[in-house]
Amino acid sequence: MSAKIIDGKAFAAEVRAKVAAGVAALKSEHGITPGLAVVLVGEDPASQVYVRSKGKQTVEAGMASFEHKLDQSTSEADLLDLIEKLNNDDAVHGILVQLPLPDHMNSDLVINAISPAKDVDGFHISNVGLLGTGQKAMVPCTPLGCLMMLRDHHGSLSGMDAVVIGRSNIVGKPMAHLLLGDSCTVTIAHSRTKDLAEVVRRADIVVAAVGRPQMVPGDWIKPGATVIDVGINRIDAPERGEGKTRLVGDVEFDSAVEVAGAITPVPGGVGPMTIACLLANTLTACCRANGLPEPEGLTA
Ligand code: NAP
Repeated sequence: MSAKIIDGKAFAAEVRAKVAAGVAALKSEHGITPGLAVVLVGEDPASQVYVRSKGKQTVEAGMASFEHKLDQSTSEADLLDLIEKLNNDDAVHGILVQLPLPDHMNSDLVINAISPAKDVDGFHISNVGLLGTGQKAMVPCTPLGCLMMLRDHHGSLSGMDAVVIGRSNIVGKPMAHLLLGDSCTVTIAHSRTKDLAEVVRRADIVVAAVGRPQMVPGDWIKPGATVIDVGINRIDAPERGEGKTRLVGDVEFDSAVEVAGAITPVPGGVGPMTIACLLANTLTACCRANGLPEPEGLTA
């Protein structure tokens, strides 16, 4: 058996198109343009790429993009001042502070300074609490993208056994809450989990968010299960030439694809969904801020 490949790139394009349609309607019917402010501190090359990509896709969706690039030596107080200004700026509906921040800043303090209603990353403690108690929240983008793909594939997730491998605040924990919200029976596994293979083998849904290349082999997967591979790991690829590398997930794709019912590839699976969900969250935040109905199918 060979699994259905869940095409995250195509699905993300659909999500972006839905967002763009929602934005166009907001503009024509209400004269409102959703705006996303992205704040980058320092020159981390990976962060610069992400921020560029976010800005480009924001504009392509018809939204206003506000980029704030601050020097590595910026003080925490100056960053907090900027956040305060953005919190009070009616043209800004979403604020994202690109992580990681320089060592002299307290990330928790900075994230919690963002107005929860504009916290499109869903990392503010209020949003974490709202999600944890099953209330309307801003939901972290990567797990939201995983949830959208699972709902699209299965329809209802009710009653399914789900195992989330990884308990980070940005992926594992919110993913588990979202799956619980959709009435899955959820297990969260981590580095201290005993007999992880057996835990994974009973899952109808496996979400791997570990950061260890290809650590989940196909013989851990229950036949027919749906596998969502969040991991992005760069490994050496001598077969492509000297010094070459390639991206792999946390799941050993070649063996898992033979057993699973459906699986996301890396690259081209969860990755493209993350920015698409950031745009979706910005549209949602804008609708909420203006007391308008939320876009359908773009929130948890
Ligand atoms: P993280 O904060 O490092 O968390 C990793 C989790 O994996 C931890 O909970 C850790 O357990 C667990 N773990 C480590 N070794 C394990 C093992 N041998 N068995 C079981 N669990 C183990 O990572 P993250 O930020 O959640 O990211 C995870 C992966 O997703 C990374 O590859 C990252 O690049 C990728 N990612 C992708 C996207 C995307 O857009 N596609 C977004 C975010 C992250 P302990 O808590 O016990 O240490």
